[in-house]
Amino acid sequence: VRVEGDYRYELGEMGSTLNYMAEEIVRSNQIKDDFISSISHELRTPLTSIKGWSETLDSGGYDPDETRIGMGIIAKETDRLIGLVEELLDFSKLQQNEMKLTMARVDLRELLKEIVLNVWAKAELKKVQLRLDADGDAYWVYGDANRLKQIFLNIVDNAIKFSHESSVIVLHLVREDGWVRTSVQDNGIGIDEENLKRVKDRFFQVNTQGGGTGLGLAITQQLVELHEGKLDMSSELGVGTTVSVMLPLLEEGPAAKELDTDTA
Ligand code: ADP
Repeated sequence: VRVEGDYRYELGEMGSTLNYMAEEIVRSNQIKDDFISSISHELRTPLTSIKGWSETLDSGGYDPDETRIGMGIIAKETDRLIGLVEELLDFSKLQQNEMKLTMARVDLRELLKEIVLNVWAKAELKKVQLRLDADGDAYWVYGDANRLKQIFLNIVDNAIKFSHESSVIVLHLVREDGWVRTSVQDNGIGIDEENLKRVKDRFFQVNTQGGGTGLGLAITQQLVELHEGKLDMSSELGVGTTVSVMLPLLEEGPAAKELDTDTA
């Protein structure tokens, strides 16, 4: 009787593990189905607009101003498509361990200043203010400048996208025990506890209405890890979100000097 009891107990444990696995498979299939539908939509929207405008302009009879507007929309939508395809290619490169980095010394402070300039117009449109909170010193890290830009652009883009009008986004830059911590803090819509656990998962989006692929944070996290860093998120629904990226600080010293001559 005791053996039977133990056996049942084990089956019970195994049963719930199997149940859990089955639920996970169903859930991840659902996420992939949603991804295919949202990516198709993301591809179709700009294509429809490009097709429409090129046919319209081709039919002739438009004055130079209207033609310029049409050409502008075609250029903007083409950029959107290129961005989307690049995101998919990056994701697949990372999945296959084929992402190549061109490493050099990078001053994160300068890089963040560039990011702020880069997204300025987008933030203005939403009347969102961007502030860089850092002392005047350089914050050296060792990394691929373009990929580091991609990391912070994605985080800041999200912060703008999910911020309320007229709010402030602060980029904090601090040194912490051999690390540089960059935190992007917004006062936007925030994320509840359940969703926060999953936002870094590939394909995952809290709300699919706003567009996007749900790959941004998954790519960002993997790029941070390729730089030997860590990405953390904290958030409160209705209050705001802070995304922190920790990267190893490159101390001024022999190692940094060596790198200087290497990259000169
Ligand atoms: P996408 O590329 O679709 O924006 P991400 O992986 O970058 O996907 O983000 C996944 C989801 O995480 C977003 O759809 C959004 O719901 C949530 N999210 C990310 N950043 C923020 C933020 N700063 N505030 C609120 N929600 C956010």
